[in-house]
Amino acid sequence: MASHKLRLCTSPSIGFGTIKRTRRIGNFVCKATSVVFRDLDADDFRHPLDKQNTLILRAIPGLNELGRALLGSVSEQVMLLENIGTSVLVSENQLSELHQLMIEAAEILNIEPPDLYVRQSPVPNAYTLAISGKKPFVVIHTSLVELLTRKELQAVLAHELGHLKCDHGVWLTFANILTLGAYTLPGLGGFIAQSLEEQLFRWLRAAELTCDRAALLVAQDPKVVISVLMKLAGGCPSLAEQLNVDAFLEQARSYEKASSSPVGWYIRNAQTRQLSHPLPVLRAREIDEWSRGRDYLTLLSRATRTSAVQRV
Ligand SMILES: [Zn+2]
Repeated sequence: MASHKLRLCTSPSIGFGTIKRTRRIGNFVCKATSVVFRDLDADDFRHPLDKQNTLILRAIPGLNELGRALLGSVSEQVMLLENIGTSVLVSENQLSELHQLMIEAAEILNIEPPDLYVRQSPVPNAYTLAISGKKPFVVIHTSLVELLTRKELQAVLAHELGHLKCDHGVWLTFANILTLGAYTLPGLGGFIAQSLEEQLFRWLRAAELTCDRAALLVAQDPKVVISVLMKLAGGCPSLAEQLNVDAFLEQARSYEKASSSPVGWYIRNAQTRQLSHPLPVLRAREIDEWSRGRDYLTLLSRATRTSAVQRV
């Protein structure tokens, strides 16, 4: 993966610090110290493909207006009421452990925490809905809570916060609704709808890579993020203990090798084109590489140095 621009290394506006927290997990009280990225800017971790595809989407005349018109304030209200009516709103007094995970992740990424809902569903999933940006909210499905450890779940929340941090709002909601199959594009010819959908999905796949980086910034351990991707690819609660992150990374490397031939490249493209998310193995490779790259390491080392000074 191409390395991100080195803005992080040189920007004087980025400050780092640590937060010390006491949190209750089950019957245990844990004292944890995490790195906080104060003044973190979305462009400090945005994937180059995300930057590129955002420019392409911006260049499509009227797309933003179309998105807002189709998913205007009424739709936002409908979706919000739907969630309030059929899901559980997390708060200090409701599933407080999950609430704490969200508050911590938001603090680390220097962003206002959105509302969080837990929704009954056998499909492990999480998504963010935000149109006007005034009342964004994150939804996680119950089966995802069952599948992941608390640290992994926090990485998922951080991924969703990444979408908000990067202002993926309208287009993300648009793409999410298409993905959920709950919406058809009225008044648009099939071809336009299809090519728009393809372009949106291309953008979303790039946006996903950015948000996996947000997940890493919060988890501060690539294995946590890769484990989430592995579990989403083929995990279930009864197998969770036996899953092996290193073997999954090896699998990801073998995919890359197998798809590097011309025929493999064609199949890989065809496999990816209609997907809203990049293939799990490719996301795992991307995050593994970014975790070893200069941008991330510089960011962490500066953060560690700052926290060491603070502890003295
Ligand atoms: Zn996402």
